[in-house]
Amino acid sequence: MSYDAIVIGAGISGLLTALALSKEGKSVLILEKEKYIGGVCRSYEVDGYRLDTGPHAITRLKNGPFKELMNQYFDVVPQFVPFGKYYVRIGNETKPFPWSVNSWLQFNLIPKTDRLLLMKSLFNMLYMLNNGKDLSTMPISEILPQNVSDRSKRFMNWLCYFTVGTSIENTPVSRFIDNKTNKRDSFHYIGKFYDLLISEGATDQGYPKGGLQSIVNSILASFPKNKVEIKTNEGVMKIECGSKVGRVITKKNSYVGDKVIYSGFASDLPNMVDNLPLEYAQKLATIQKINSLTVWVGLDKKIFKHQGSQMWIDSDPFAWVVPTSNYDPALAPDGKQLVGFAFTLPDEYNTEKIKKKTLDTILKIQPDIEKHIDMIHYQELIPEKAAWSVNAGFGDVKTPIKNLYCVGTDTEKRSAGVSRAAYSVLSCLDAIKKDDVLVSHY
Ligand SMILES: Cc1cc2nc3c(=O)[nH]c(=O)nc-3n(C[C@H](O)[C@H](O)[C@H](O)COP(=O)(O)OP(=O)(O)OC[C@H]3O[C@@H](n4cnc5c(N)ncnc54)[C@H](O)[C@@H]3O)c2cc1C
Repeated sequence: MSYDAIVIGAGISGLLTALALSKEGKSVLILEKEKYIGGVCRSYEVDGYRLDTGPHAITRLKNGPFKELMNQYFDVVPQFVPFGKYYVRIGNETKPFPWSVNSWLQFNLIPKTDRLLLMKSLFNMLYMLNNGKDLSTMPISEILPQNVSDRSKRFMNWLCYFTVGTSIENTPVSRFIDNKTNKRDSFHYIGKFYDLLISEGATDQGYPKGGLQSIVNSILASFPKNKVEIKTNEGVMKIECGSKVGRVITKKNSYVGDKVIYSGFASDLPNMVDNLPLEYAQKLATIQKINSLTVWVGLDKKIFKHQGSQMWIDSDPFAWVVPTSNYDPALAPDGKQLVGFAFTLPDEYNTEKIKKKTLDTILKIQPDIEKHIDMIHYQELIPEKAAWSVNAGFGDVKTPIKNLYCVGTDTEKRSAGVSRAAYSVLSCLDAIKKDDVLVSHY
């Protein structure tokens, strides 16, 4: 049997692509190497708690790329609970993240002189932008005033790790200013000082009720009848594209389709595609993955009271703390609380040592939880397949091989996480549409 499209990988990028193509009337086969689907966008049970693959805030729910795909293709839409505030925690103090210039000027967790110096850097940056300077190769550390305190440097470094997955020395200035429009107009950005996490502040973010899995379940429930076939435990080993049809080879079988859309690591493509140009393979080899460890902790009482998450600036490694059961109490047994502590890890680490270090850090910063711990579960995951860093590469949605496309967080240099995955799907659909001029109903 031949399919209109073969999608490799059943993470959110692959599933969204399959949904869009099938809704456009195409027959789609999805091949997933694991026995489960969802990739790093799913949930599972541990000791009565429902854990997600890392804590998640789904961003830009009012008018972002994921919203666009939901509007266009979802029959069943996940329910989102407002994500609430981002609290910055330094020492024993916790304050809401200062999204506006006004709140930044009053944000006294950072010394006043540093706040003014950082403000000045912002205006320098806008000046450079206006003068046509390329900010994609300039690291944040270069525009940071040298004389700011260590506390302020840590704060800025935390933001870099959180948004890009790498240090302040590797994070390009452009990451924080061009993710929404790519517009080179400085006035567009004034008044949005430190709107650093995503492009529109935190007001349009949500947590999916029922857990992250509910997003995947909504996609599955929206597949048109008899249009999508999913095969799990089918790791793809070879992709043969370039002529009229594509062939995809797994350990068990081989499949034929008009188009192949790959959503695994773009850096693995050279091992799978024999006719990939050398120069392209070399570019893919420069992609840097991000590593993360999430420590899920079940507590026998509710200790983290506020709606929202905490940014732990003193933590080593830096941590983002999200009590998911505050959004949906059904994620924890009655009267208990589920909290995810997400850490970005260095390129190389020892798993056992880092597990111990992160747990020690949690207990050092929040000692009152120790006697209430009811469950601990660790997850080593790759949140983004490519770090948006100054010295690393990215893949593309359109490969140099005919009829071979890619989607996923290493194929589109915009936004982050699910939003980035959704951008890649929209770009891929556009690329297919352009290439496939004869097929009118895409
Ligand atoms: C700790 C953590 C926190 C996060 N926080 C957020 C957040 O707050 N907000 C947000 O939007 N996002 C967040 N994310 C990121 C988000 O979950 C991911 O960016 C997104 O789920 C990636 O989806 P994907 O489909 O591109 O990749 P993946 O989920 O990695 O899917 C790829 C799929 O392809 C399969 N595959 C790979 N190779 C093959 C092969 N050869 N053959 C067959 N199958 C193959 C894999 O098994 C996998 O199922 C977070 C992630 C983590 C880990």
